[in-house]
Amino acid sequence: PRCVVAVDGPSGSGKSTVSRRLARALDARYLDTGAMYRGVTWAVLRSGVALADAAAVAKVAEAARLESGTDPDAPTMTVDGVAVDAPIRGPEVTAAVSAVAAVPAVRRLLVARQRDLIAAAGRVVVEGRDIGTVVAPDAALKVYLTASPAERARRRSAEDAADEAATAADLARRDTADSTRAADPLQQAADAVVLDTTGLGIDEVVAELRALLAA
Ligand code: C5P
Repeated sequence: PRCVVAVDGPSGSGKSTVSRRLARALDARYLDTGAMYRGVTWAVLRSGVALADAAAVAKVAEAARLESGTDPDAPTMTVDGVAVDAPIRGPEVTAAVSAVAAVPAVRRLLVARQRDLIAAAGRVVVEGRDIGTVVAPDAALKVYLTASPAERARRRSAEDAADEAATAADLARRDTADSTRAADPLQQAADAVVLDTTGLGIDEVVAELRALLAA
């Protein structure tokens, strides 16, 4: 049967790990919408257009051929035939993605594609910033994951093998950019279950979400 689970929250809240594990447990697909914004950002950087030129950024986004692989065991992102899984996690894309994601035309385009992918998948766990509020407001379960800033920086720097202080500063910058932008800012849906994952293991979080779905 169809089942959409929306998982929103800031970076380092445990969204990706939890969403993939939950998708596997539910025998569902996994859609990483952040990877789509990162893929467009990769195309924008490659094109050489200025990040501040919203019209040019939107044009690049429209022309980019994005393919999202939704297997929770091996999610992939391809842009114009190029596998971009490694570069979209790199510092250049990470530094530029909030600016690209703030362009309203880019959001309109990606939200429409995300809705198509969700409809095609049927059973899917979708992670992002605006899934419960904008992309899939009718999701069966909406979760908003949080964690303390220190815990988020610790998790992210472990993932990226990066310096913890630099990661904390970058997370704070992206949080502010993502939650204060005019178009679809990061927000908790009024009907989202808020889960603080600080000090919780992945198994505990996934078990909690499965219990909420079964209820
Ligand atoms: O989740 P991830 O860190 O990969 O997301 C990268 C960026 O993409 C976020 O900082 C945010 O600017 C943007 N994003 C968004 N809406 C989403 C998913 C990601 O604006 N649904």
